[in-house]
Amino acid sequence: MGRIPLLLLDSDIEENDLGERGVTDRLYGGGSEHRLLQEMLLGIGGVRAVRTYCELTGHVAPEVFHTNEGHAGFLGLERIAELRSQGLDFDAALEAVRAGTVFTTHTPVPAGIDRFDRELVARHFGPHAELPNMEVDRILRLGMESYPGGEPNLFNMAVMGLRLAQRANGVSVLHGQVSREMFAGLWPGFDSEEVPITSVTNGVHAPTWVAPEVYRLGARQIGAQRAEEALSVGDSDRWDSVADIADQDIWELRRSLRELLVLEVRERLRASWRQRGAGAAELGWIDGVLDPDVLTIGFARRVPSYKRLTLMLRDRDRLMSLLLHPERPVQIVVAGKAHPADDGGKRLIQELVRFADDPRVRHRIVFLPDYGMAMAQKLYPGCDIWLNNPLRPLEACGTSGMKAALNGCLNLSVLDGWWDEWFQPDFGWSIPTADGAGTDPERRDAIEAAALYDLLEQRITTSFYDRGRGGLPDRWIDMVRRTLSLLGPKVLAGRMVREYVERLYTPAAHAHRAMDAESARALAGWKARVRAAWHAVTVDHVETSVTATTAQLGTTLGLRVRVGLGGLKPEDVEVQAVSGRVDEEDRITDAAAVALKPVGVPDGDGRWVYEGPLTLDRTGPFGYTVRILPGHRLLASGAELGLVAVPSEELAGAAGLLMR
Ligand SMILES: *Cc1c(COP(=O)(O)O)cnc(C)c1O
Repeated sequence: MGRIPLLLLDSDIEENDLGERGVTDRLYGGGSEHRLLQEMLLGIGGVRAVRTYCELTGHVAPEVFHTNEGHAGFLGLERIAELRSQGLDFDAALEAVRAGTVFTTHTPVPAGIDRFDRELVARHFGPHAELPNMEVDRILRLGMESYPGGEPNLFNMAVMGLRLAQRANGVSVLHGQVSREMFAGLWPGFDSEEVPITSVTNGVHAPTWVAPEVYRLGARQIGAQRAEEALSVGDSDRWDSVADIADQDIWELRRSLRELLVLEVRERLRASWRQRGAGAAELGWIDGVLDPDVLTIGFARRVPSYKRLTLMLRDRDRLMSLLLHPERPVQIVVAGKAHPADDGGKRLIQELVRFADDPRVRHRIVFLPDYGMAMAQKLYPGCDIWLNNPLRPLEACGTSGMKAALNGCLNLSVLDGWWDEWFQPDFGWSIPTADGAGTDPERRDAIEAAALYDLLEQRITTSFYDRGRGGLPDRWIDMVRRTLSLLGPKVLAGRMVREYVERLYTPAAHAHRAMDAESARALAGWKARVRAAWHAVTVDHVETSVTATTAQLGTTLGLRVRVGLGGLKPEDVEVQAVSGRVDEEDRITDAAAVALKPVGVPDGDGRWVYEGPLTLDRTGPFGYTVRILPGHRLLASGAELGLVAVPSEELAGAAGLLMR
């Protein structure tokens, strides 16, 4: 694709026996073992395909492997097996593989994560299976949910993915936070904020998703060269000049896009009715479906239940009066595609189709089956509003609203995924959510649907139909302009890729280069030694030059801490003072950590004294504590081993420390 070699794997070739040929016969719905075989082919076969490709073409061997979700996760096992055949033991090979692996988690919906029976995995990774020289126990341990609440008999592909990668991320700021909470059990001893899973917000490929009409208007404004650059690099300077496009031009563009959509929808609707068995003579009404001057709302999704396809049907009378309003009507284009195995999703689609078939409203609401990319490309630009109402926070990022925004369509969405971080009143509307603990699902849907109708009735339709002195909806046009110029550059895939390169791929490549066989053995040996010794690592005594309660803003405390390191040395650990504002529950928030320094020599019991200054640089309730983390130059994060030593409760009480 472009300059990037893309390899596709197909097991349906003559040399394979029948069972093998079927492995790639479907994407979903083949049962657990089928799925496992597909993932073995993808992960293990994928690495072999890449290696072969590099040998055949002289392409440089990859240094960093990035696995999206757990599906390709077995690639880490294949690479461990490669290193084992070069003489590394399992632990050293694991360190080497981790250094050059990035793992991205894509969903907080449990059904989106593959989990297999332990026994099934054991059978396929046993001594007579695909990776014969690997210890099956070690493999199983990588995928085990060995934390409170985990299922002991399941092998979790996301958990394995996280253990096989030294760097990990979610796909929006909110999803990063949700993932840190969801997987916190893998880093015991750390609050979720410190779980080493960052986030890179998804983006969309503008050359694919910006309609030619929108692109032409941009190119007319700033020149074709700059317009092309603007789409790829996400450099906001190049988007600024959208601000200079005249109101009239923006409004005409919006209308012509809407009109194109209306024609497209009629054509697809006619085709869909013909397929349902209707004769041409019965379909005259389709020429009157949708109106190029009516506020147009789009909603197109796969239909897993968390996306709530039918939320808009919650109060049918209210929806009907929105559709049929005499001065300020709305029209809605819905498209959907259900997972073949998802009967619930299919039922939701039927419910929507039944509503849209009603002769009273069928000119104002349309359902289009078989949502796909070609349809999506026509749909986003022609809508005025893009609606998204998932159950927060289950939409990890969501991208359709980004594609809509790139065409000057405003978003109307629950504050979930990308919209939670980039929503501004200039870019659209946020549907208030009732996702507080304890709200029952029915009530929650009712509250959120009511909020949706309120917004449409009171804010959105009025804004669209209110015309200023020039006969144009001034505020609306202004929002379109700001969506294009300010949101446009953020949602680009170019921005996303740059973030992956700078924050994950480059550090992973450096880590990979630093991890020759000798370093990998040393790191694995060090980790084993630290894990074995950690029980004896303790914070024994803390004293300060000024008591924290009398200290004032700007005061510097001298901290003096005595610690036990068991068999470890100062170079194996980092002793930290952690400080910050304190909340109502006596927890430190927005914590900052500074490293303390060892002074002198250990006493007869192997205890060390550490010292350092701690400056009170914030107002309000302030607290601090001391902790010990493993420290090594090849760790990506102090939380990497999930080990931490903190003061005992008595000590903390006596020294005025907070516990966390
Ligand atoms: C963008 C897109 C999606 C994903 O949209 P979400 O908002 O993330 O659900 C799904 N299907 C098609 C055809 C798309 O173009």
